Amino acid sequence: MRMTNRLAVLAAVTTLAIGGAAGCAKEDKGGTTDTGVALIKSGSLTTCTHLPYAPFQSKDSSGKVVGFDVALIDLVATKLSVKQEIVDTPFEGIKSGADLNSGKCDVAAAGMTITDERKKVLDFSDPYFDATQALATQTGKEVKTLEELAGKRLGVQGGTTGEDYINTQVKEKSLKIEVVSYKDLAALQQALATNQVVAAVNDLPVWNEYIKANPGKVVVAAGFDTGEQYGFAVKKGNAELLKAVNEALAAARTDGTYDKIYAEWIGAKPAA
Ligand code: GLN
Repeated sequence: MRMTNRLAVLAAVTTLAIGGAAGCAKEDKGGTTDTGVALIKSGSLTTCTHLPYAPFQSKDSSGKVVGFDVALIDLVATKLSVKQEIVDTPFEGIKSGADLNSGKCDVAAAGMTITDERKKVLDFSDPYFDATQALATQTGKEVKTLEELAGKRLGVQGGTTGEDYINTQVKEKSLKIEVVSYKDLAALQQALATNQVVAAVNDLPVWNEYIKANPGKVVVAAGFDTGEQYGFAVKKGNAELLKAVNEALAAARTDGTYDKIYAEWIGAKPAA
């Protein structure tokens, strides 16, 4: 009799445990959240990015990928009751839509500027950051205009809007600059530090971050007001995920989370 009771209790506890587990899993049914957002990997929001691109995404001392974009996409993951998982991959595959189309990731977050060309192959979120291009040189070797770079080497980052901007300027103004394209931001910054180029162009916030991390070495010598805006991207037609991204962004702007993340990763906001 006593034995039977014990078994009954055990059975009840087991049922509860299974019920509890099923309750937890309901947010993520084999790659689809309970709000109907399909994800490539069950339980994860997989993000494609291209490292390093501080302060938007870079590895901290423990190897964890952190930054402004990471913090914002974490809000989307939280909203979907999943964890963000980050995949580091070349920028070309991100901006061409290839990575999203092939199911390498659900969302792209890479300090990526919204452009008409990219809009043809990606669906962008609402803009989440304003940026311009900036020309950096070593301290004491400032160059104020592109014209001054005649006969010299200017570094750009391959596949970026900065590269496009410089190539257009060189063509339109028939500038005699030797434009050298580097595969990522780290290589570009290294080239500037080691005099392989006399100046380098990239987005202003990444130069500001570099100068913060390496004080006194490099300066922003000139700016180009390209009026860019960053957007997160999803595979064309993925309206459910895009909606979740935009809702998370809107909520963060309303409740002050966006400002907190901005202050943490970017610093003081420019005067509106
Ligand atoms: N904002 C630039 C672009 O979209 C650079 C992005 C990057 O290098 N991650 O082209």
